[in-house]
Amino acid sequence: MKTKIFSSASIIIFIVSLVYFLLPNEWKILYTQLFSSKERKKIILPVKSVNIDDIEDTYGAERPGGRKHEGLDIFAPYFSPVISASDGILLYTGRDVLGGNVIKILGNDKRIYYYAHLSKYIDFKTEDKIKLGQTIGYIGNTGNAISTPPHLHFEIMEIKWLLPLITKSINPYNELIDSNSFKQD
Ligand SMILES: [Zn+2]
Repeated sequence: MKTKIFSSASIIIFIVSLVYFLLPNEWKILYTQLFSSKERKKIILPVKSVNIDDIEDTYGAERPGGRKHEGLDIFAPYFSPVISASDGILLYTGRDVLGGNVIKILGNDKRIYYYAHLSKYIDFKTEDKIKLGQTIGYIGNTGNAISTPPHLHFEIMEIKWLLPLITKSINPYNELIDSNSFKQD
């Protein structure tokens, strides 16, 4: 009887380990980080050369294929530096079809920050610590922005469910208006 209980426990441990092993790397980092304490700090505008008044609130606007715009577009000249809107750790750098060159950062506030259409991103490693205001990449028009003027697609996602990972974007516009404009000399 005892051995039977032990073996079913082993099977459960085996399955859990197997599931964990098969999870995307991004999720694993996220799960381990979620146990650290949450820190709420005001976010900053991720493009220094732009004023908040120059940004149009297009969150929720219709997009081709029945999609809705899930973030804000911040227009700026090619190769303008993109800075991190928050403190956090690096989840992912790479390419995706819509976003082109993208960076994902898990903020210390446990929200996911997504920066897309970059011409280039800094060569970080996953789990690198990212500081608020640190340069993370440069403005571009990669992905589905190829025929539009260069801009940063900036998106913040809240984590709604952990397994599978389900996130929902929020409108960062009011937070950006509220934030003190961060000017570095
Ligand atoms: Zn966009």
